[in-house]
Amino acid sequence: MYWNQKAECMPRDELRELQLERLKQTVSRVYHDVPHYRRQFQEIGVRPEDINSLEDLRLLPFTTKQDLRDNYPYDMFAVPLSEVVRIHASSGTTGKPTVVGYTRRDLATWAELMARALVCGGASRQDVIQNAFGYGLFTGGLGIHYGAECLGASVIPISGGNTKRQVMIMKDFGTTVLTCTPSYALHIAEVMAEMGVKPEETKLRCGIFGAEPWSENMRRNLEAKLGIDAYDIYGLSEVIGPGVAMECQGKHGLHIFEDHFIAEIIDPQTGEPVAPGEPGELVITTITKEAFPLIRYRTRDVTAMIEGECPNCGRTHMRIGRITGRTDDMLIIRGVNVFPSQVESVLLSIGYTEPQYLLIVDREGNLDTLEIQVEVSSQFFSDKVRGLEELEAVIRREIESTLGISAKVRLVEPKTIQRSEGKAVRVVDRRQI
Ligand SMILES: [Zn+2]
Repeated sequence: MYWNQKAECMPRDELRELQLERLKQTVSRVYHDVPHYRRQFQEIGVRPEDINSLEDLRLLPFTTKQDLRDNYPYDMFAVPLSEVVRIHASSGTTGKPTVVGYTRRDLATWAELMARALVCGGASRQDVIQNAFGYGLFTGGLGIHYGAECLGASVIPISGGNTKRQVMIMKDFGTTVLTCTPSYALHIAEVMAEMGVKPEETKLRCGIFGAEPWSENMRRNLEAKLGIDAYDIYGLSEVIGPGVAMECQGKHGLHIFEDHFIAEIIDPQTGEPVAPGEPGELVITTITKEAFPLIRYRTRDVTAMIEGECPNCGRTHMRIGRITGRTDDMLIIRGVNVFPSQVESVLLSIGYTEPQYLLIVDREGNLDTLEIQVEVSSQFFSDKVRGLEELEAVIRREIESTLGISAKVRLVEPKTIQRSEGKAVRVVDRRQI
């Protein structure tokens, strides 16, 4: 099933032609309408007419989060504010947020992309979609909302939080599709169990989760706990919001909607492209956005390109692997690169722990230390096949052999690690204090 078969299954040579045409238009527009880009292009001596192939994209400079901060709030907009009908912002961990704007046509594009994404994950106009992404400046809530309306599904705009009510509504309103962050889905599953509501008492059959990295093991965990198929959706507010890429029902990679975005995967140190299959930083150029076009935006999200045609769905758009982390979430512990999602994957592969964990990084003398706090599952207490210390030792060994770092493992009581209603906090880095 497709939302827009012509676009989603377009032969690749046709797709590349369309991309080039749209890229040229975008480059010309930003050169004329956004002083930041004109300055940058002039500095390196590139003019819009120098872009004659998709490969020429590499002549253009990268755009970084810092560029957006420097042009706060509206200086990266390519249209006057009178043409902007919506403003979103992403919360910066430091200082001012990043501000993005949409024209009426941008909103229509976004809704179409989200409708495509929902259909790609198996949703249809028959579905009741409980949207537990936060509504507000964050793009998750409204992005999914208008996509689901565009699709013609019945949307419950519940936003995040008030979890018992989420469960009640899920049951009473006959929710079939849940959309939220994976960590919040996990919390909903826990509260559901506490309330004695079994998945089979609901009509829930599908979860579309995103806005934070999550592992394949977390998918299996959520699918088992909620009795659903779980799919990964990707997006970021700077680029448009959710709906940049979406996993199809093959659950093997996310299709990037390439008629609207050009994706590159680069080595974050050198800026050079990496080979397919190699992990690198995802870089995106928007080619249809009016209010806030982006040229070669460094997303800081780490992924790899999956080569070859999708064996599952017939979509021709390229696939990326699930996001393993963000370049700025990457912990460097005694010189070893570690992403929280890798730790999550190891923990869940061992069993007897819940996917509720916290990484505490500190420094003793000149040495980095890592403590992993993780909740023991209630299964552990009922099975009693081994002691707590033994389980700690197993986790410690597995972390060491898989990630190549030693860590202190501390098992904590169920339900003691802070739950999230949006994006989970997984790391406390005390080294900077
Ligand atoms: Zn596919």
